[in-house]
Amino acid sequence: MAFAKGYAATDASKPLEPFTFERRAPNEDDIVIDIKYSGICHSDIHQVRNEWGNAKYPMVPGHEIVGIVSAVGSGVTTFKVGDKAGVGCFVNSCTTCATRDLDLEHYMPGLVQTYNDVEADGTTPTYGGYSDSIVVKEGYALSIPDNLDFAATAPLLCAGITLYSPLKHWKAGPGKKVAVVGMGGLGHMGVKIGAALGAEVTVLSQSLSKKEDGLKLGATHYYATSDAETFKTLAGTFDLILCTVSAEIDWNAYLGLLKVDGALVLLGIPENAVPVHAFSLVPARRSIAGSMIGSIKETQEMLDFCGEHNIVSEIELIRMDQVNEAYERVLKSDVRYRFVIDAATI
Ligand code: NAP
Ligand code: ZN
Repeated sequence: MAFAKGYAATDASKPLEPFTFERRAPNEDDIVIDIKYSGICHSDIHQVRNEWGNAKYPMVPGHEIVGIVSAVGSGVTTFKVGDKAGVGCFVNSCTTCATRDLDLEHYMPGLVQTYNDVEADGTTPTYGGYSDSIVVKEGYALSIPDNLDFAATAPLLCAGITLYSPLKHWKAGPGKKVAVVGMGGLGHMGVKIGAALGAEVTVLSQSLSKKEDGLKLGATHYYATSDAETFKTLAGTFDLILCTVSAEIDWNAYLGLLKVDGALVLLGIPENAVPVHAFSLVPARRSIAGSMIGSIKETQEMLDFCGEHNIVSEIELIRMDQVNEAYERVLKSDVRYRFVIDAATI
């Protein structure tokens, strides 16, 4: 066992505070990562504040982790000391069935989340990336392309894969029109990756305040959803709409923007049920679906794709003690476009 330093939430209503804890002793198939940078995902805020009703305290959040391998177990073959490595949203999964071979392990029972969960032994709590080290099985660690800015790769581990996976699954590419709803941490990655895949990307944002950025990052069009005209102008336009918003929006209005056979995919998770009228779907064979992160294999494919296309997140690097202020700014959509914690400041 080794001690790690980090920041933890101890209660849904309290700010995060410094926290020292034990990391489990590495096994022969584990690597130890000296964490360098950790992104702040909106899901961290949902969980710290127990908005999903399953919070376990103390909670060290963070599932967009990059660092340098500082030790490897005797059975490790894919990493060596000194390599760059990343950890995303999960650190273990079911290994007793064939789901791992289907690369769908993130949708199966037995998934162990990087934090706010317990390891496969059923007792050891998992603690996330707002800390200075982590121990992880090598099969759940990712290789980070060397050419990318290191701090700005951290958000790829959640925001990047969460957009890459549905873009690939629904075959976004040349000739396809894709809308991204919400120009935040997830949304701006959707713009970059969607454009790099060759799709025509439109941002649907609450206002036009981030239009210049959206167009610079690869969007062809940018519309304000606060303007009712947007929904008339864009009726029947898109093959795919990726919704990164967790607030209540008018689902039927967005479904009306899809072509025949188009799909609206929920990535943000609204608290309440999503009310959809059959007439929004039936007359155009439209569908509504959801998508969650991606498998380890797909996450590595996404990282390699980003390495080839020089794609990273737009980030604001902060000190660890700025985390509570950063949370407030995320809640006000006042972030361009992802906060990343510099672990050297812990
Ligand atoms: P974020 O950076 O806060 O971005 C969300 C964006 O939604 C904001 O930038 C804003 O964009 C828009 N928005 C906010 N409030 C809104 C409202 N009331 N009405 C309409 N639009 C609103 O958050 P994020 O980190 O991208 O995460 C977004 C959601 O996805 C969170 O709920 C998170 O838990 C979830 N998530 C899901 C997965 C998955 O696997 N499915 C993975 C990670 C995160 P504009 O200013 O452009 O309107
Ligand atoms: Zn996340």
